[in-house]
Amino acid sequence: MPELNTFTCDVCGARKREVNHWWIVSIEMGVFLCREFDEVDWRNLNAELKRHQSTHAVAVACGEEHAQMLFDRWLHTRTFDAPRRES
Ligand SMILES: [Zn+2]
Repeated sequence: MPELNTFTCDVCGARKREVNHWWIVSIEMGVFLCREFDEVDWRNLNAELKRHQSTHAVAVACGEEHAQMLFDRWLHTRTFDAPRRES
């Protein structure tokens, strides 16, 4: 599985490099959680996600700004999907 080491921000699509202050954000049983990026945590969360697809979600953010954006989305939609804009 060669793509395991490639992480991209779920907001802007930036690719993670060696030194970055990335975050893992997740929804677990309806609770928003944010933790510093860790590859092992990421794998564990994704394993959890497969077992609880209806109540869990996981996303990666490239920095504080995009972690906050995911939090904002969660406040509005209870998911990591961008809210629909009326225009
Ligand atoms: Zn980003």
